[in-house]
Amino acid sequence: MDLATLWYLTIGTLLVAAAMTLWERQAHAQRSRELGLWAAAYGVFALGCILAMNRNLLPGVSGPALTNVVMVLGYFLVLQGVMALDGRPLRPAFIAGLLVGIGTAWFVLGTGWASLLWNHASAFPIAAICALTVFALFRSRTAKGSRSRSIAIAVFACHSLTYAVRTFVVPMVVSAYGESVLPVVAKLTMYEAVLFTVAMPMSLIALVREEDRARLLASARTDFLTGLNNRQGFFELSPERLRQSGKNASHALLACDLDHFKAINDTYGHEAGDSVLKLFAQVAGNVVGPSALSARLGGEEFAILLPGMGAQEARKVGEDIARHFTEAAARGNGLAIVATVSIGLAVEDGSKSDLAELLAAADGALYRAKLLGRNRIEVAESRGIAAAA
Ligand code: GH3
Ligand code: MG
Ligand code: MG
Repeated sequence: MDLATLWYLTIGTLLVAAAMTLWERQAHAQRSRELGLWAAAYGVFALGCILAMNRNLLPGVSGPALTNVVMVLGYFLVLQGVMALDGRPLRPAFIAGLLVGIGTAWFVLGTGWASLLWNHASAFPIAAICALTVFALFRSRTAKGSRSRSIAIAVFACHSLTYAVRTFVVPMVVSAYGESVLPVVAKLTMYEAVLFTVAMPMSLIALVREEDRARLLASARTDFLTGLNNRQGFFELSPERLRQSGKNASHALLACDLDHFKAINDTYGHEAGDSVLKLFAQVAGNVVGPSALSARLGGEEFAILLPGMGAQEARKVGEDIARHFTEAAARGNGLAIVATVSIGLAVEDGSKSDLAELLAAADGALYRAKLLGRNRIEVAESRGIAAAA
């Protein structure tokens, strides 16, 4: 395959990548800036390729100089998009300053050292910017934990390495074997460019898609009113929480149901009822801390999983929640609402971890708490569930 074919292939791939990225941009309003920057970068790269192919048509060193500056701008736009993912874009003046510096270096050194600059030195800024892109992806809080981040890091690290080799290793090879190796290097560079221009846009789009998917998943697991997990979130996230706290630890679960909530709605209105639900979520969150998993299972029913907690401690947590909730409702929002909660507590000793069974046991205890007059905490004593004190 000759060099020109590889150039044309790269240009075509870049234009398709720009179009695909712009298409993707319509579906990700929250990342429209980043996707816009990347699409612009691919357009700039395509322009750089056209300039590179025709660089000898321009006078003096202006052809290679312009090509180099345009290419470096493309890499900066890619980096800018990656930095923008975390809301930390580079200052445009900084980028402009470096581009002017590179252009100036070409015109100062270019006449005597054109071949050295084109074949080796011009690769250095590209290696450096791609290394910075790798660093930015490593540090990115947005991309943290996403599978596609590793792919993106690998893609930019390989590209950075290729251009570092062009800068530092190829000159040694040339001095050992002569300039006849340069056409081979040029072909290898272009071959890598074709792969890079396919892998880079794919990995960057994958980052955005994965982030979007995580956001949708989180929203599918969240109760809109209280911000707690909903039933789906509770059942999907519990196993991981239980695993984290150790297989043989005991786990407690509180099933909570607000008392006479229908009467609160009827007396103070649905909006006030909503405030009471939010208040309960807030109070429970404050009492239990981050290791617990709280959820609104539906209506005025909540579940609180306390991984690694025994019966006595969990009972104390339940009592604290109930007390703080009643106090806060009596104080809250100008409406002195009398609100109480009934709680069923079940403890599982690690011999099995069937959450549904644990919840059923806690629900049984809750039912008893209602029968015994509400505003109290009752403890489950069913089979397989370690009896609490
Ligand atoms: P108990 O003490 O036996 O639990 O009586 P209760 O009135 O709390 O229980 P019941 O199941 O009869 O009523 C629950 C009420 O919760 C009925 C429903 O209108 C209300 N509710 C459910 N979801 C919401 C909500 O999102 N906002 C408000 N404001 N009310 C809700
Ligand atoms: Mg209920
Ligand atoms: Mg109720």
